[in-house]
Amino acid sequence: MTSYKVEADLHLHTNHSDGTLTPKELLVLCKKRNLKLVSITDHDTTAGISEAKQIAADIEIDFIPGIELGAYWEESEIHILGYYVNPDDSHLQKILSDFRDNRISRGASIVKKLREMGLNISFERVEEISKGGSIGRPHIAQALMESGYIKTPKEAFDKFIGDRNEGFVPRKLLSLEDSIKLLTRNGALPVLAHPLMSSAKSGRKGILGLSKLLPIMKEWGLVGMEIYYGTYRNNQKRKLLDLANEYSLIPCGGSDYHAVGNPIEPEPGDVGPPLYDVDRLIELHE
Ligand code: AMP
Ligand code: MN
Ligand code: MN
Ligand code: MN
Repeated sequence: MTSYKVEADLHLHTNHSDGTLTPKELLVLCKKRNLKLVSITDHDTTAGISEAKQIAADIEIDFIPGIELGAYWEESEIHILGYYVNPDDSHLQKILSDFRDNRISRGASIVKKLREMGLNISFERVEEISKGGSIGRPHIAQALMESGYIKTPKEAFDKFIGDRNEGFVPRKLLSLEDSIKLLTRNGALPVLAHPLMSSAKSGRKGILGLSKLLPIMKEWGLVGMEIYYGTYRNNQKRKLLDLANEYSLIPCGGSDYHAVGNPIEPEPGDVGPPLYDVDRLIELHE
């Protein structure tokens, strides 16, 4: 299926959200792994973008500023990436700042539940681990790991903090329509993230009724969809590619690298779209 050299990775996280590497460490790693073009897509924050832009220019790697938002659709959570997000947008920044505040109180609620379940971790420690980045469940997983309750972050999601576990507390999300329109209004290009379930992220469900939802999302402003993603198998990629062609969506993707020590996490450069598809994204922006 991947008969081209992977030279682009459009889905990466830093320590400004739930990744562990700084933008500099991440970009240097991407360069070492022969990537020509990358996008950093932290959750609910644009804080890493200006540093990343600077470093990318220094080490000569092409850089697209990005962001990842969660959105609700019926009972489920869907993620949307926004490429070429403009950080100088007070309307967007106000919403992102509300999301991050909610991540703090929601993180504290999760820790409270875990403590009631007999897992002795503290929210102070979770905050330390997050080092000021958007707080997420991976930081809580890290705290559980340090205390010896689990061996990998994935195990935390399987046993305690996955969407269907006792320790789960939802976070504040906009509707799918509002999320896509928020990005469009910002000038960002909305792309549907990881539409199918993935073996590396247990508990994550595929989007039900995807083929019916795509044309609706397209009306709202969707321009692309992740296909070359994470651990997706060839048959999954083929199915998505057919859908992307049917609805004229740009095939995107990347490793979704967080550097948190998950057992089967792909690394930067392991997976990503061909450069001719990325060019279509670049052309839409120009
Ligand atoms: P949150 O944003 O706090 O709801 O946490 C979701 C984040 O946890 C995702 O962005 C992934 O980084 C990570 N994640 C979700 N599911 C899993 C899983 N099954 N195993 C490991 N990490 C996961
Ligand atoms: Mn994440
Ligand atoms: Mn995601
Ligand atoms: Mn992601």
